[in-house]
Amino acid sequence: MPDIERIVIIGSGPAGWTAAIYAARANLNPVVYLGVPKQNPAPVLPGGQLMLTTEVENFPGFPEGVTGPEMMAMFQKQAERFGTRVAGEDITACDFSSKPFTLTTSNGENIKTHAVIIATGATANWLGLENELRLAQIGGGVSACAVCDGTLPMFRDQPLAVVGGGDSALEEASYLTKFASKVYIIHRRDELRASKAMQQRIFDAENAEVLWNKIPIDVLGDEKIESVHLKDTQTGEESTLDVMGLFIAIGHTPTTNFLEGTGIELTDKGYIALNQRGSFTNIDGVFAAGDVADADYRQAITAAGMGCQAALDAERWLAAQGIE
Ligand code: NAP
Repeated sequence: MPDIERIVIIGSGPAGWTAAIYAARANLNPVVYLGVPKQNPAPVLPGGQLMLTTEVENFPGFPEGVTGPEMMAMFQKQAERFGTRVAGEDITACDFSSKPFTLTTSNGENIKTHAVIIATGATANWLGLENELRLAQIGGGVSACAVCDGTLPMFRDQPLAVVGGGDSALEEASYLTKFASKVYIIHRRDELRASKAMQQRIFDAENAEVLWNKIPIDVLGDEKIESVHLKDTQTGEESTLDVMGLFIAIGHTPTTNFLEGTGIELTDKGYIALNQRGSFTNIDGVFAAGDVADADYRQAITAAGMGCQAALDAERWLAAQGIE
């Protein structure tokens, strides 16, 4: 390890690995901190959200599809081919108050670096039901991303449900109405949070129905989901809804806890705020890419694109500082 790194990339999803590929090819000798696996309450793994995705069918270049874990292994292999170094730890704290920056690893080691790319992603929020997480992990018809998984053959012409009342839930539900026989939106209140335009789209869809004042309290099915057990939030009455797919869309949490006290500016939704079109944060020399800085798109391909931007921005910034 050099005394001072030129660039440290925190996070190993599509944004982190793409940044590494570009930084390594630019001879910046990057090191990627993969992150330690954890349970929160669904597994959080090095490789990010794609590690919990079965089939990826919308990433260009894979006409037959590819599994999320396979794709992340390929990204890593490509980054390592150009000399990217890999460290297994988490970065648990950052000090951006003086240059070079100091990053603390989960082993308690302090790393000095001139530039940092933060690509720690965001984790989908889950209800926290035991069978929900189990079925999500085994590809049993429970997912936190309809755009990723909704077109799988198992969901075609089947009754499906989406949980949530925000723009994501309604956008996902609207997307699913194109393939499903019926789409139920399970919402815990009697009013949706989503924009009026999005609501209208759902009200206009013949095969969509909002189930008001309901929360799932259990997901039933061994290998595949068969039904959802619901509870009425007003009356407490319980009911069963037969569905072949359940999509959880109750928001995401960006992974920024290790940035506490650093002065990094966050948006009102808790994502890293970026300046202009690029990957510049409010701190000179700190760049961000992928879902940790993107509340809207959250796709592997957009995260990869942002990773590319961050590496190019960092490369130019390092050159401007005279750090080659
Ligand atoms: P969100 O706006 O925070 O909505 C989350 C929804 O999940 C809310 O309806 C909430 O219910 C519900 N919810 C939260 N926790 C729950 C729980 N434990 N059990 C049951 N329901 C729960 O999140 P989002 O929809 O992901 O949107 C995030 C941001 O991205 C928003 O600003 C949104 O406008 C934006 N976005 C925009 C677009 C677009 O413009 N095309 C698309 C997607 C997202 P309550 O309403 O009762 O709180």
